[in-house]
Amino acid sequence: MSTFSLDPGEDQLAVRDWLHGFAADVMRPAAAEWDEREETPWPIIQEAARIGIYTPDFYAQQYFDPSGVGIPIAMEELFWGDAGLGLAIVGTTLAAVAVLANGTDEQIGTWAPQMFGTPDDVKVAAFCSSEPDAGSDVSALRTRAVYDQAKDEWVLNGTKTWATNGGIAAVHVVVATVDPALGARGQASFVVPPATPGLSQGQKFKKHGIRASHTAEVVLDGVRVPGHCLLGGKEKLDARLARAREQAVQGGAAAAGPGSRAKGTNAAMATFEASRPAVGAQAIGIARAAYEVALDYAKTRVQFGRPIIDNQGVAFTLADMKTRIDAARLLVWRASWMAANNQPFTSAEGSMSKLYAGETAKWVTAQAMQILGGNGYTREYPVERMHRDSAIYSVFEGTSEIQRLVIARSISGLPIR
Ligand SMILES: Cc1cc2nc3c(=O)[nH]c(=O)nc-3n(C[C@H](O)[C@H](O)[C@H](O)COP(=O)(O)OP(=O)(O)OC[C@H]3O[C@@H](n4cnc5c(N)ncnc54)[C@H](O)[C@@H]3O)c2cc1C
Repeated sequence: MSTFSLDPGEDQLAVRDWLHGFAADVMRPAAAEWDEREETPWPIIQEAARIGIYTPDFYAQQYFDPSGVGIPIAMEELFWGDAGLGLAIVGTTLAAVAVLANGTDEQIGTWAPQMFGTPDDVKVAAFCSSEPDAGSDVSALRTRAVYDQAKDEWVLNGTKTWATNGGIAAVHVVVATVDPALGARGQASFVVPPATPGLSQGQKFKKHGIRASHTAEVVLDGVRVPGHCLLGGKEKLDARLARAREQAVQGGAAAAGPGSRAKGTNAAMATFEASRPAVGAQAIGIARAAYEVALDYAKTRVQFGRPIIDNQGVAFTLADMKTRIDAARLLVWRASWMAANNQPFTSAEGSMSKLYAGETAKWVTAQAMQILGGNGYTREYPVERMHRDSAIYSVFEGTSEIQRLVIARSISGLPIR
């Protein structure tokens, strides 16, 4: 087990500086343009691939860093550069983590490279769990997976929504229900390989923020995937379903509502648990970026004959902004270290980190806009975009209310509703 440390090692600091350079030189100058275009920034993803930031190896290296801070440091720097472009670059990792969390070594080796493509032919991947009637309540998924034993194929039918990279991805990872009677415990994750017939993109959403990241519906109409596309394999699934059925008979597995989430007892939740602190780190990147703009502005903007930071009303706000950002980072690093060192999340520390970092990003970016006055309200300055981008951090990867529910249940041991 590695000791928890607030002092990143030389390797992590080198990665941080390298990513900071990419964020400052490549992402920042392109951020406003791609926000306006609301399109996937393929040239930026390609550049990230060319220099080695967009590769399975890079993320695997950070993911398996025993200090736990490799991923949060990487996320913070990229999202300091820009959140829309950042998500366009790292959106693939949500699907990759699903394969990593639920797949066999062979499945990881097969699918991870196809998710990223090559620098000359970059690809993206999508993780499809949410549905029109199953957002926070993941146990309500309706997408069905039925096994065709004669052909050793799974047949997927349903409609997914809000999928980052949905429809434009080479590889889609789809969470579907195999046994609806078991709720979340009856679900499994499937890889849908590139160009599989029956998978199509539905509506592409026009969003408030992170507009360079593609978000769309994914329609699955009689999609057939080979048996080996079931993550973890059929034997493991059959054993898991048998256990769940047994517990259901004994009355122990009543409908798996949001309470089961803290324990990550199903495929979708295993993915969310692994990625929550990383998502918190993205929010911190946005907050830090907005804070820096506001601090500079407050030192140079003169009103009533003195810089506006000379007023406690402004200076104290900046002090609170910095304090909350640092507190959020501590929570994120702690949770990431715990995850990397297999420490039990007895108080839902992963959810705590995402909750606090997400809310901090929304609050800090709002304060930054206020400190910039009229300029903060325009697209001439980046804080307006940062504020729009930050708003997603209390919604995706579990809303703030769901994080509170998970924490409350975890600390009380009670089925809080
Ligand atoms: C830009 C974007 C990208 C996304 N990317 C992906 C992706 O790649 N893959 C994917 O699968 N999903 C993705 N999502 C979906 C996202 O995870 C869901 O939007 C989120 O889980 C909330 O679900 P919902 O939108 O259906 O809201 P609902 O679940 O309908 O919630 C509506 C409101 O009710 C509150 N609420 C619900 N239940 C409770 C409760 N028990 N107690 C208290 N309050 C409650 C919620 O907190 C929220 O405020 C994305 C969403 C967006 C907007």
